[in-house]
Amino acid sequence: MNKHVPSWYDDEVGAVHELASDFFEREVMGHAEKWDAQRRIDREVWLKAGKLGLLLCSVPEEYGGGGGTFAHDLAVFEAQGYSGDLAFGVSVHSGIVAHYILEYGTEEQKTTWLPGMATGEILGAIGMTEPTAGSDLKAIKTSAIRDGDHYVVNGSKTFITNGSSADVIVLAVKTDPKAGAKGVSLLIVDLRDCDGFEVGRVLDKVGQHAADTSELSFVDVRVPVSNLLGESEGLGFGQLMAQLVQERLIIGAQAAGAMERAVEETVRYTKAREAFGHSLFEFQNTAFELAECQTIARTSRVFLDYCIEKHLHGTLDASDAAMVKYWLTDKQCEVIDRCVQLHGGYGTCAST
Ligand SMILES: Cc1cc2nc3c(=O)[nH]c(=O)nc-3n(C[C@H](O)[C@H](O)[C@H](O)COP(=O)(O)OP(=O)(O)OC[C@H]3O[C@@H](n4cnc5c(N)ncnc54)[C@H](O)[C@@H]3O)c2cc1C
Repeated sequence: MNKHVPSWYDDEVGAVHELASDFFEREVMGHAEKWDAQRRIDREVWLKAGKLGLLLCSVPEEYGGGGGTFAHDLAVFEAQGYSGDLAFGVSVHSGIVAHYILEYGTEEQKTTWLPGMATGEILGAIGMTEPTAGSDLKAIKTSAIRDGDHYVVNGSKTFITNGSSADVIVLAVKTDPKAGAKGVSLLIVDLRDCDGFEVGRVLDKVGQHAADTSELSFVDVRVPVSNLLGESEGLGFGQLMAQLVQERLIIGAQAAGAMERAVEETVRYTKAREAFGHSLFEFQNTAFELAECQTIARTSRVFLDYCIEKHLHGTLDASDAAMVKYWLTDKQCEVIDRCVQLHGGYGTCAST
């Protein structure tokens, strides 16, 4: 296939992509059935990813990271999308949590958390969503009230990726419960041996069964004031909005990988499957369907490349980021649905 090679995809990014593709195929997809059944992934896979240098690729080497650009992280996330894995919470750990600490953390916060996150020994999560506040983030109720050198944290979070196994969480709290968006702050909370912290249910979702998506509760949890992210209280909402651009790009990259894989697999399947004395691939309807799916995948990829290049130059804005997330995930669903139809009954099975 005549693959377009964008300017951000240099030899080094290509090498990370190749390594990540192999890792997801062998170390992740190879365990998918077991992990789905046990409703969680094995912790050791984080250490394997860390050993291969697939975590925190764009964090500077002085903090244990790969010293690359965000393109290196995106190569990992795209390889994950291509592999079909939906369980390994690497985009949250590397693409989101590490970047809050890198962007807003003090030198001490960075040296405390990032090296362990890069090796996979420390697993990260981000806690924004609450049972009564999702889209309306400023309505969160988890409070962090100052008491001497500590904040006392009370509240609950839900839908937290990596939640039941995380060692550290960037937690959205209200340091001023009456101040709306201006009362939101982000705290780094060490969840290891943390009095008052409890994991609730690991949510039983309709899909992504092995993905750890959990409820968490905090009762009088004492967090040192030095764990505040940013120079003062009340900056959390702006910090969350600023990071959203990069976070939306991650989802676009995963969608591009998933779409391309769906088309490739369906070409392979329709060539092998026979009906009425021909391969499915030889029917004109199959050709139309695959040509349209390939067109959608290719044009989506071009838009993604445009957004990645802008992001690497620091010019990707919020509307572009919203468009890339919206468009690629919408097209991902369409392409995969059409590819599933071409598999007939076998399209409903977990493996063919
Ligand atoms: C698999 C998974 C992993 C997740 N991981 C994390 C995580 O790691 N950390 C974390 O903090 N959260 C996480 N989330 C939570 C996710 O961010 C929220 O689900 C999301 O913010 C939406 O919130 P909600 O579910 O409360 O829906 P609601 O906010 O209740 O929205 C319900 C519906 O109403 C619509 N709606 C809301 N407001 C408006 C409006 N003003 N106008 C029109 N329509 C509106 C929404 O679009 C949606 O269709 C995860 C969720 C899932 C499913």
